[in-house]
Amino acid sequence: MDDNDHRVLGNRLDLFHQQEEGPGMVFWHPRGFAIYHAIEDYIRRRMHSAGFREIRTPQLLGRSLWEQSGHWEKFGAAMFSFSDADRAMALKPMSCPCHVQVFNRRLRSHRDLPLRYAEFGACHRDEPSGSLQGLMRTRAFVQDDAHVFCRDDQVEYEVGRFCAVLRQVYADFGFEQFDVAFSTRPAVRAGSDALWDRAEAMLARAARAAGLDCVVQPGEGAFYGPKLEFILPDRGGRRWQCGTIQLDFVLPDRLGAVFVTEDSGRATPVMIHHAVLGSLERFIALLLEHYRGDLPLWLAPEQVVVASVGPAQQDPVVAVAAQLEQAGLRVAVDTGPDTLSRKIVRARDQAIPIMAVVGAREAHDGTVALRFRDRLDPARSLAEVLPMLQRLASPPDQRSAVAGDAPP
Ligand SMILES: [Zn+2]
Repeated sequence: MDDNDHRVLGNRLDLFHQQEEGPGMVFWHPRGFAIYHAIEDYIRRRMHSAGFREIRTPQLLGRSLWEQSGHWEKFGAAMFSFSDADRAMALKPMSCPCHVQVFNRRLRSHRDLPLRYAEFGACHRDEPSGSLQGLMRTRAFVQDDAHVFCRDDQVEYEVGRFCAVLRQVYADFGFEQFDVAFSTRPAVRAGSDALWDRAEAMLARAARAAGLDCVVQPGEGAFYGPKLEFILPDRGGRRWQCGTIQLDFVLPDRLGAVFVTEDSGRATPVMIHHAVLGSLERFIALLLEHYRGDLPLWLAPEQVVVASVGPAQQDPVVAVAAQLEQAGLRVAVDTGPDTLSRKIVRARDQAIPIMAVVGAREAHDGTVALRFRDRLDPARSLAEVLPMLQRLASPPDQRSAVAGDAPP
């Protein structure tokens, strides 16, 4: 296997593992789960500021719900199902029908729309064992799933604002360029031609208004509506389908979602399915391969390793590490007997972007010397270093507007 394969990197950097007893499942190790958390927290904030409210829905549901939603018929072969007493149950392969249940718990007015829900949905799909591949194709994964319930006349605006979210998020992860595919009506579909004409026109207009250049994929849409797919190219030339925006005129109707119209009638809302990353597991595979394990500082499992030069600096190193941790950084400590050059090699091997060195002089002066991936800084006081590191290591959406040092 190639050195840059995420499975090789995952093992070398001690991020995660998979084993025979859990086919297609992932055991996240502390370092890997730190990346996972950094991504989840970041997406949570971005979705919240885009007007989505986070919900959590069950993983295990009666099969009758999946029959009603149509998933059982379309997707049943890929669903894990079993009986609980005499009731047929299934693990959710996606969260969409659950979001409709939340919508349906109140009588909604046209004034309540759009309603936006987001969920880190833990999904299971019974993928054939031959197709499983590290984090790229798993049987258990978390989808950054989101849905908007809105009126027809709100679709274009909603799609446009979500395109802006996607562009921002991808740029934050280092992907300024991405491709967009526009998938139109498939041969087997629900809904009239007039409905599809309208849906495709709406989506095309919204995409154009968002400044997206789409490649049309005729016949590749979902059976319930047209979709946009966002494809990120990695450094190795591989293309990863991540985000989606799908218009859906079928599921809300099947599951009985309604709202009260302006003239006190009843209408079915449009449901827009959104995902930014797709599966978090797969997105981490993409990042690992794209950055060859050297993730940007804000995503690194440990952002700083504080290292001693000799045995006398044990205590100062621990004190510096504690302060950095207090400031919100992810910190490792290296106070072993090895030489400094050995420690530098180790930090590089573990893909820790910054080393804070405390030697005899630094310990005496209350300073640290910073070693970045590409440069060495002179020793500076911790009071000076702390806010700088804090700023450099913070996620892109939390970086202060103050111009500071260039990120390492
Ligand atoms: Zn959905």
